[in-house]
Amino acid sequence: MRTVRLGKTGIEVPQNAFGALPIQRVSTEEAVSLLRNAYEGGMRFFDTARAYSDSEDKVGKAFEGMRDKVFISSKTMASDKKKFTEDLDTTLKNLKTDYIDIYQLHCAPRCYDENDELYLALVDAKKQGKVRHIGITAHKIGVAEEIIKSGLYETLQFPFSYLASDRDIELVKSCKEHDMGFIAMKGLSGGLLNNSKACMAFMSQYDALPIWGIQRQSELDEWLSFFENEVTMTDELKAVIDKDRKELLGEFCRGCGYCMPCTVDITINQCARMSQMIRRAPSQNWLTEHWQQEMMKIDSCIECGICKTRCPYELDIPTLLKKNLKDYKEILAGKEI
Ligand code: SF4
Ligand code: SF4
Repeated sequence: MRTVRLGKTGIEVPQNAFGALPIQRVSTEEAVSLLRNAYEGGMRFFDTARAYSDSEDKVGKAFEGMRDKVFISSKTMASDKKKFTEDLDTTLKNLKTDYIDIYQLHCAPRCYDENDELYLALVDAKKQGKVRHIGITAHKIGVAEEIIKSGLYETLQFPFSYLASDRDIELVKSCKEHDMGFIAMKGLSGGLLNNSKACMAFMSQYDALPIWGIQRQSELDEWLSFFENEVTMTDELKAVIDKDRKELLGEFCRGCGYCMPCTVDITINQCARMSQMIRRAPSQNWLTEHWQQEMMKIDSCIECGICKTRCPYELDIPTLLKKNLKDYKEILAGKEI
C-alpha cells in the first residue's frame, strides 16, 4: 500500500483511512469492532468530528490504551473562541486522550486568518499541546484556494473523487507545492460512486489521503482488501471512470445535507439526486411508497431559497428538485431506466 505524507505535519500513513461519520448510525459495540478491525487490517488514520454526535466517543473507546498507535483528526464547527474551547475539551474527553493529531475548523465559509479569534484559538491550542497540527475543511473551491494561499494551515480537507474537475486536481497539486497535507473527503461522492476499486485507483495517482466513510464490516473489508492487493490505474478502471464521469458530471447533488432542513420538509439530500440513485442502486429501493411520498413533497416547494444559501456547491436546488421529480414521475409511468 502506498503511503501519503500529510505535508509539514510529517504524518505519513497508508493511503487508506477511515472516515468516522457513518459510525454514528451503528451501536457502540459495532463501531468499536469496525474501528479495531480497521486498525488490525492496516488503517492508521481516523477522522471524526464534534458534529458527528457520538462518533468521537466511539473512536475514543476503540483506541483506549493504544493512542500512540493511531492518528486521529477531529473538527469543530465553533464560530467563536468560547465554543471552540468547549468543543476541544469535549473532543479530548470523548477521545480519552490529551492530544489530537489534527484539529480542523469544520466546513469553513472563508479562510480564517490571524485577525480571527478562531484561528488564534487553534494556534493557542497547538501551543498548549492539546492539538499537534492545525487544519481546516472546506467545500467551496474558492475558499480552499484562499486557504492554501494563506499558508496558515497544515492540512486541507476537501471533497475529492474521480468526478473531480481540473480545478480540484490543481488544488491537490497546489497543496503538495505548499507542503500542506490534503485529506480527501467524499471519495465516493456521497454514495454516488460504487466501484471501490476505481475510487482507490484514482486516489493512488495523487498525494491525497482518502477517509472512506465506513458503516459496515462488508464495506471495511473492501477497503482493507487493497492492503493485500494493491490497486493501480488500468485501462479497465479508466473505462469505468470515463463512463461514470459522462453520466454524472455537471450540477449534481453530493447528498451532504448541509442545505437542510427544508422549510416544507423535503428530504433534499436524497430527492435532489434521485435520478442518479435510481439508476445506480437497485431501483426498487427508490420506488417504495415511502420514497414516492417523499418525492411528491417537491410539488410543495415554495421556492423560499433558504436551501440555496446553505449549499456549498451553490446548486439551484429548487430547479434540481423539479428536474428529478419530472424524471421520477416518468419512471413511475413506465419510462425505461
Ligand atoms: S426553496 Fe424549496 S426546497 Fe429549498 S428550502 Fe425552500 S421550500 Fe425547501
Ligand atoms: S443540494 Fe447541496 S447542500 Fe443539499 S445535499 Fe445536495 S449538495 Fe448538499
